[in-house]
Parts: sequence; C-alpha cells; structure tokens
Amino acid sequence: MSNSQWNEDQAAGEKAQREWEADRVRVKAERLQLAQVLKELFANMDCGDRSCRFKSQGYGGMRTNGGCRCLGELRKSERDALVEMVERIAKDG
Ligand SMILES: [Zn+2]
Repeated sequence: MSNSQWNEDQAAGEKAQREWEADRVRVKAERLQLAQVLKELFANMDCGDRSCRFKSQGYGGMRTNGGCRCLGELRKSERDALVEMVERIAKDG
C-alpha cells in the first residue's frame, strides 16, 4: 500500500469515527428531547379516574372508578414503568 493510500484510508477512518460520534450525540439529544416532550404530555394528562396515574386536573369534583385509562390498555405496571423511564431519561439523559 502506498503512503498516500494509507493516509487516505486513515482520513476516511477518522471521518467515519467523527460521524459515528456526532450521530451518538444527536441520538442522545433526541432521546432527551423525546423524554421531555412525553413528560410535558404526562403532566397534562388526566382520565378523570380516582386512581389516575397522572391527575393533572387535581382531585376535585366527581371522579370515576375502575382504574386509570390514560395510555389506552396499558397495564398499571406498564404505565408505571413507562412513566418512570421517561422521568429518568428527562432527568439524566
Ligand atoms: Zn388516568
């Protein structure tokens, strides 16, 4: 291999490494942004049930029974895990 070929390969390798690192930074920023958007969404959710996971409207007034209906048919454990994951990512990235 010629010296100039080696230099080209070296430069290409370094460029690929920089692009990979920039991509990692971008993915991490997007992950944080998504978590912050979801956290904001959760802060405004309330299905009106007495045991709503979110209760952004507060406790006042008439409330239904039967369990939180936010986030569709998710089981309570799944809803809790999702909320905890979003809060952790929004906090620490
Ligand atoms: Zn709810």
